[in-house]
Amino acid sequence: MEKTILTGDRPTGKLHLGHYVGSLKRRVELQNSGDYKNIFIMIADAQALTDNADNPEKVRQNIIEVALDYMSVGLDPKKSTLFIQSQIPELCELSFYYMNLVTVSRLQRNPTVKSEIQMRNFEASIPVGFFTYPISQASDITAFKATTVPVGEDQLPMLEQTKEIVRKFNSVYGDTLIEPDILLPENQACLRLPGTDGKAKMSKSLGNCIYLSDPSDEVRKKVMSMYTDPDHIQVSDPGKVEGNSVFTYLDAFCKEEHFAKYLPEYPNLKELKAHYQRGGLGDVKVKKFLYAILEEELEPIRARRKELEKDIPAIYEILREGSLKAREVASKTLDDVKSAMKINYFDDTELIRAQSEKYGK
Ligand code: ATP
Ligand code: MG
Repeated sequence: MEKTILTGDRPTGKLHLGHYVGSLKRRVELQNSGDYKNIFIMIADAQALTDNADNPEKVRQNIIEVALDYMSVGLDPKKSTLFIQSQIPELCELSFYYMNLVTVSRLQRNPTVKSEIQMRNFEASIPVGFFTYPISQASDITAFKATTVPVGEDQLPMLEQTKEIVRKFNSVYGDTLIEPDILLPENQACLRLPGTDGKAKMSKSLGNCIYLSDPSDEVRKKVMSMYTDPDHIQVSDPGKVEGNSVFTYLDAFCKEEHFAKYLPEYPNLKELKAHYQRGGLGDVKVKKFLYAILEEELEPIRARRKELEKDIPAIYEILREGSLKAREVASKTLDDVKSAMKINYFDDTELIRAQSEKYGK
C-alpha cells in the first residue's frame, strides 16, 4: 500500500523544542526517506480557534510563524504539502458525519482532552468545538487517507479515536477509510518533552518553552534558569536526574560526540549522571553543556529562518498552493464518504430509476 503522512500543529505560537523532538525532526527524516508518496503538513488554525475563539488575531499572526519554523527545520514544500486547515471546508463536512459515530461519554473519557480542559480552566464552560476536536482530527487524518501520523505521545488518544471512527464507518457504510498508525518518537525523553519549569509538557500555552527561533542569548537565559533538582543546593549535594529537566533534555539531544567536543572530562551521559547523583557536580556546568548542544542544533535552524523571513509573500504563496492541492485530495475523500453513506443522490442513477419505477414510470 502507498504510504501517506498527515500531521500538523496548532498556530497558537512559535514552535518549540517539544515540537522539534516530538514530531518535526522525524517528519523531516521521513520526508527525505523517499518512502512516502504523499506528505501533508497542516497548520491547524481551525483547531486552534476551538480554544481561542475570542483571540483570532493570535491564530492569524502565528500561521506565518509556524510556516517559517517548518521550513527552517527542513520541511520542503517541493516534497511536502504545507497547508492551512480552515481552507479545506471538506474537513468540516467530514466531521459533521463522523460526529454521529461517536458518543459524548467516549469524548469525555479522552485523557488528553480531560487534562487540556483542566489546564485551560474550562471546567463547566467547555466550548463544544473544543470538546469535539478529536473528531475533527479524525477528519484531518482520514481526509488524506493517511497511513502514518508522526506525533508526540499526547496525541495517542486522538489516534485511538480516529481508528475507532474508521472502524465504525467502514463497518456501517463499507470499506472506505484507512486506519492510520501513530509514529511516536523512539527516544523515551522525546515522547513528551517537559517544560523548562519542570512541568510535564513543554507547551505554548504554559509559557515554559524554548522556541526554535529564540535568539542565542534567550536560549542561554532559559537554560540557565531551568528547573533541576530543588534539593540539589550545594555542588557537593547528591542530585536527582529523574524529573530533572536538564537531564531529560540531555537524554533528548545529547550524543556521545558532544562530550569530546564540549565536556571531555566525561566519556558519556551515563558517567555525567552518575557524578551528579553522587554529588560534586554543579547545575551550572551541566546547563552550560546543554546550552552548547542546543546551540549546535538551533543555530542552523535560526540561520535558515533569517533567509526565509526575507520573502514572506513567497511563504504565503506556498501555503496557498499547498491548500489548493490538499483540498483536491480531501474533496475526493468526501465524495467517497458521501457515496458510501448514499447521500450522493444526484449521482445515483439507480436511486432515481428505482424511485421513478415506484411511481410506475
Ligand atoms: P498548545 O498548547 O496550543 O496545544 P502545543 O505546544 O501542545 O500547543 P500542538 O500544536 O498542540 O503544540 O502540538 C503539535 C505537535 O507537537 C503534536 O504532534 C504534539 O504531540 C507535539 N508536541 C507538542 N508538545 C510536545 C512536547 N512537549 N513533547 C513532545 N511532543 C510535543
Ligand atoms: Mg497541544
